[in-house]
Amino acid sequence: MKEVYSSLTMKTRRGFIDYSLDKRATLLALFRGVVDACDADPYLMRAAKYHGEKADRNCPVCKKDSLVEVRYTFGDQLGQYSGRIKNGAELAEMEKEFGEFAVYVVEVCRECSWNHLCSTYLLGDGRERKAPRRQRTLEDEDFASLK
Ligand SMILES: [Zn+2]
Repeated sequence: MKEVYSSLTMKTRRGFIDYSLDKRATLLALFRGVVDACDADPYLMRAAKYHGEKADRNCPVCKKDSLVEVRYTFGDQLGQYSGRIKNGAELAEMEKEFGEFAVYVVEVCRECSWNHLCSTYLLGDGRERKAPRRQRTLEDEDFASLK
């Protein structure tokens, strides 16, 4: 069982967005374009199974105790690691290693497959760092414009 980290333990957390209904639809659509490929649901369910961290609440749909959170990280400074799933312990390390990156928290129910983007926030110590060399992609441009 993985240790559950509260987002509140992240020292550098800022830019927190708790998605209200009006914003959620468009941002979720944008997010899905990046995270979800055509085999979206099996991929997300697998991510939830192997990388999900237990949420401190029950599923809003089926009310079961099967809700987990999957945290995706995005940012120019992450280079090739942008888009990877990270757990709380890894985020705590990353906030010291990188100047700024965005975290997208998706809640997934392993019982009924309910999923949605809960929130996003920025982490990092604020110092600019060069990303490892790589090709820029369209996804990077999309997420850059969200900041
Ligand atoms: Zn459920």
